[in-house]
Amino acid sequence: MRFHPWVFSGAVHHIDGQPEEGEFVRVLTADGCFIAVGHWQIGSIAVRVLSFEDTAVDADYWERRLRRAYEMRVAIGVAARSDNDTYRLVHGEGDNLPGLVVDVYGKTAVMQAHSVGMHHCREDIAEALVRATDGAVENVYYKSETTLPYKADLGAENGFLRGGSPDNVALENGLKFHIDWMKGQKTGFFVDQRDNRSLLEHYSGGRNVLNMFCYTGGFSVYAMRGGARLVHSVDSSAKAVDLVNQNIALNFPGDPRHQAFAEDAFKYLDTMGRDYDLIILDPPAFAKHKDALRHALKGYTKLNAKAFEKIKPGGILFTFSCSQVVTKDNFRTAVFTAAAMSGRSVRILHQLHQPADHPINIYHPEGEYLKGLVLYVE
Ligand code: SAH
Repeated sequence: MRFHPWVFSGAVHHIDGQPEEGEFVRVLTADGCFIAVGHWQIGSIAVRVLSFEDTAVDADYWERRLRRAYEMRVAIGVAARSDNDTYRLVHGEGDNLPGLVVDVYGKTAVMQAHSVGMHHCREDIAEALVRATDGAVENVYYKSETTLPYKADLGAENGFLRGGSPDNVALENGLKFHIDWMKGQKTGFFVDQRDNRSLLEHYSGGRNVLNMFCYTGGFSVYAMRGGARLVHSVDSSAKAVDLVNQNIALNFPGDPRHQAFAEDAFKYLDTMGRDYDLIILDPPAFAKHKDALRHALKGYTKLNAKAFEKIKPGGILFTFSCSQVVTKDNFRTAVFTAAAMSGRSVRILHQLHQPADHPINIYHPEGEYLKGLVLYVE
């Protein structure tokens, strides 16, 4: 048996009763043998599986499941550390909890439901988050206004389900970050770049760094610690520029090496000089759906071509795609095309991906989304 966590509607022969979206349902074979229990959904995915064991989905279930997720984060060395309290505790299908994302920042867990079923279970999940994490989580902030299916019209409101703390400074590998979980993108921070930021720190010494699409400035703060000569952070959002300035001030107050600019990426790359020898390109997902793929690949090529054109000889380019529909091969081709267009000699130093606290369910390869290349450009 395969353990893919979705049951597609086309695979359902018949339905007993009339389940409502978000209700628990049991999936059986034609001759009545148990397969799975999960949340019922309207649409092409009919059931999101919660368990392949015939178990009740109750307070006990949530505590067991979340404890497993927490123990895994301790085992891989991202949780229960004095210098790091920023990590993803639940990564949907990757933790066998489809439709649920939980990121932890200090003592606060920020929880996002992507399915009606998870929304219905939010109180049980919040309670279990506090119990299952041995005191690591005290507050639970629910942030699903924009992640729940729009059509379900649930009127979900963002807010604390447990505790409530104004303390929003979290630690990532010993660096401090203000996390704006209320107004920020996603859960407030891109936890998925932690390992890639560490690698960037390693290459930053003495370099002129451009962090394009900087958002909260994660890469910028690591580059500063790595001994960069200067760090320029760019984002089209003025709010992001405020965030990066705050985060630099938290870690390197008054350090003149850093400057941030609110500017469109393409415009900045067109007009900037040729002095940067470490450039990070971490754009938002260019393709959110399969139909947008061709257009997105062109976008990646165009963006990377600009960086290849301007980066100083001997420079290093960190380039990413977080579009789930863009495969590793697609992305490589788009970047290679850009390299060829520039005529520069380019070598791959590293191939990057999402970190261990964003695990991929082996039966659900769709869970792989972040990919990156580190390139040496002569
Ligand atoms: N690198 C960041 C995450 C980037 S998210 C980190 O490690 O946290 C993508 C960012 O790109 C957002 O902050 C968004 O405001 C910015 N953005 C989107 N379109 C842009 C454009 N055309 N020019 C510059 N920035 C843009």
